[in-house]
Amino acid sequence: MKSYVKINTERCKSCGLCVHACPKKILSIGEVANSKGYYAAEVKDQSECIGCAFCALICPDLALEVYREEKGE
Ligand code: SF4
Ligand code: SF4
Repeated sequence: MKSYVKINTERCKSCGLCVHACPKKILSIGEVANSKGYYAAEVKDQSECIGCAFCALICPDLALEVYREEKGE
């Protein structure tokens, strides 16, 4: 299994912190507003995610979950 990031768009407040934190630059602010009117973050290329979890650590709204590739998988 590859590493990937899951975004809970309803929790996102469009602050952009994760966009700047991602070393692979695969996160961006999308064009679809959630039910609270915030344009949620989205992933451009999931296959580029290295599972570093910088995005999840910096998100003040706990909108990001990172799944990592386990050794031997
Ligand atoms: S886990 Fe790392 S590489 Fe993947 S989206 Fe988050 S910051 Fe980017
Ligand atoms: S850090 Fe969290 S709240 Fe801010 S844009 Fe990213 S996902 Fe949304």
